[in-house]
Amino acid sequence: MGYDYDDQNIFAKILRGEIPNDTVYEDDFALAFRDIQPQAPDHVLVIPKGPYVNQDHFAAEATDAEIVGFTRAIGKVCAAMGVTPGAGGMGYRMIANAGEAGVQEVPHLHVHILSGRMLGRMVKRFD
Ligand code: AMP
Repeated sequence: MGYDYDDQNIFAKILRGEIPNDTVYEDDFALAFRDIQPQAPDHVLVIPKGPYVNQDHFAAEATDAEIVGFTRAIGKVCAAMGVTPGAGGMGYRMIANAGEAGVQEVPHLHVHILSGRMLGRMVKRFD
């Protein structure tokens, strides 16, 4: 199984500093920035710094340190957004689209964190 990472994707350009972003959080493993077309009052994307296409690529090929670092970074982003339910925040939804059926537009793993409004049910019935 091969993963073909395109280093010209827009998030790779953001990581290289070639395109500006509205940063919310950054550490050695992750960068979080506001989505340019927000679908909720709070809509932040969290991306790993390594070159991974999607979650299954990341799970298969990232180091343990990268996986731990990225996972912890997501928690820190939620805390920075003030949405952590256990800390009095209103909660959030975390989405990672992959491939065609997931309608993934940017081929660099990213987790959407959505909050700031009631988000409704996750997906509609399909029948
Ligand atoms: P997805 O469909 O999961 O691949 O989502 C890609 C997301 O990236 C969309 O919500 C876009 O609005 C967002 N996006 C695309 N370009 C940028 C950018 N330059 N800065 C911030 N968000 C972006």
